[in-house]
This record gives sequence, structure tokens and C-alpha cells, in this order.
Amino acid sequence: MRGAVIHAPGDVRFETLDDPKILHPTDAVIRTAVTCVCGSDLWPWRGLEPIGDAHPMGHEYVGFVEEVGSEVTAVKPGQFVVGSFATSDNTCANCRNGFPSNCLHREFMSTCQAEYVRIPNAQGTLVATDEVPDEELWPGLLAVSDVMGTGWWAADAAEVRPGSTAVVVGDGAVGLCAVIAARERGAERIIAMSRHASRQKLAREFGATDIVTERGAEGIARIKDLTGGIGADSVLECVGTAQAMRQALHSARPGGSVGFVGVPHDVSVDGPELFFSHVGLRGGPAPVRRYLPDLVERVVTGRIDPGKVFDLTLPLDQVAEGYRAMDERRAVKALLKP
Ligand SMILES: [Zn+2]
Repeated sequence: MRGAVIHAPGDVRFETLDDPKILHPTDAVIRTAVTCVCGSDLWPWRGLEPIGDAHPMGHEYVGFVEEVGSEVTAVKPGQFVVGSFATSDNTCANCRNGFPSNCLHREFMSTCQAEYVRIPNAQGTLVATDEVPDEELWPGLLAVSDVMGTGWWAADAAEVRPGSTAVVVGDGAVGLCAVIAARERGAERIIAMSRHASRQKLAREFGATDIVTERGAEGIARIKDLTGGIGADSVLECVGTAQAMRQALHSARPGGSVGFVGVPHDVSVDGPELFFSHVGLRGGPAPVRRYLPDLVERVVTGRIDPGKVFDLTLPLDQVAEGYRAMDERRAVKALLKP
């Protein structure tokens, strides 16, 4: 089979690789229906994260079950399945506590920009749809496996409640999905921070009521202006930079909450500042598996359409162009079709 391999910053190649095989009785192998490039894939692409030896890329997937190990009974060959970027057994203490992305047997996916993918912990990780969904739903279901699940976690961690005011920091695919999540969870006012016209438009379509283009001290002042001088009930931090975290912490009202779901790069939090702010802080890799049945249902019934975050579709063999387009901000998120 063929798949994407990163060799160096800016150097992703589509190469012939060994076909994935069942290595453990808890594995499955799927044939990729669609996959994509993640914003976090750009960190190594830009040379901001070490690459080491050349290795496959990709952690988002939906596909058709090809083969299952002897202990996998939850899904069977031929079914269309959605999973998570973090695999989980769905039975350990951390899974039972609702944090499958911290499963004691967790393995992060990292080979999904390929024609076939081995899924560890398949029994606990994969959710099959009732029937094979229409192809137009595949992008939305793919989004559920990472960015929509992560946006949902941002809203959950930031305790978005019916009637509340939410600020979304970041207008990448996760930020846009976080707007959907805030709306679905009943936020009355959703302030999206975005500087890009096309992303502002999509944020409004997804439910944003206000757009703030300013950043830094001006951005914080603008949020205070819009929230009676005190800040928002919930802030969804979907970037992972020091500036975004600062924006988030200073946009929440005393007693409010920040959900931070952007993988932090050079982020540190000032202890006394956090102490005196009364702001609650929770983040981490999204417990996507916990949300899968609900989010799959919302997509299949057409209630939400997070597939709209894909604004570029490429054949899988042009995966490198997907990285370039996202790096150069010509695309929010690139969908790849085998
Ligand atoms: Zn577990």
C-alpha cells in the first residue's frame, strides 16, 4: 500500500509501505475512506517539532473494516467505522472515568495518511455506523475523529452551559468546531476570535454571534467590552501558543472556566495570576471516544456539519500539497481521498 512519510521539515512523500497487519488480537485493519492533514501535523512540517527518523504521518481516519483480531467483536469486516486519534480499551479505570484519551493502554495513531491503517485497541476504540453512510457525510464523520471531538471537549472542559457566553480563541478547524460545540451545548452568545474573512463567515454559519479581530491586550479589552467588563463564562482555547493561552485566561470572568485543547508550545501559566483570577482551567487531549456515539449521531442525522471545515480536497497521493496549502494558509484543512 501507499502512504505519507515525513523525512524532514517541508518534506512529506507519498511512498510504498508495508501493508498493515494484525499484530495483536485486539487490533483491526481498516481501508481508509477519507483522511486529512491536521494543524498539529504542521509542527514537524515547519521544523518546530523534532522529526527523527523518517516516519508515517496522520492520526485522523474513517474507513471500512478489512480484518479484525481474535478478541475484536465490537466491529466486523465491511462495516464503516469512526475512531479517535488516541486509541483506548474502553475498560480500564481511566476509560471508565471518562478519559479514554488517557487510557492505560493508549496508543496514539500516527499512520493514517495511508490507504490502510492498523487500529490498536480496536474493540474499545472503533464505533461502527448502523449502515454505510452517504459519501457526503464522510468528511463530517472524519472531523468527529479529531477536530470536532476536540472542539466538543473544549466546550465541555470550559463548562459551556445553556444561556452562557463563550469565547473561542483560534479559528482553525478545532476553533470552528468549538463554535459548533458551544452552540449545541446551548451558549447564548458565542464570540469567535478570527482575523480571516472566510473563517469568520464559517464561524457565523456555525453559530458565532460576534467576531473579534483584535489580539493581545486589545483583544482582551474587546472581550471585556462585550461582556459587561468582567469577561466570559467559558473560554475555549484552541491554539496552544502562549499568546492564545494568555488571551484565554484574561477573557474568562472570575469564576469562569477555560478549556485548553491546543497542544501547548512554550506555554506557561503564572501561578499567582491564576490564583487571584478564580478561573478554572482544564485541558488535554480530547476524550473523543466518550463523545463518539453522540457526535456520530449528530452528523448522520444532519444536525451538525463539521465536514465544512475541509475547504480543500485532494487525492491522497497529493498529500504534500495538503501540508503546503495549510502551512501557507490557503486552506483551513485538507481532506485526502485514497
Ligand atoms: Zn482504557
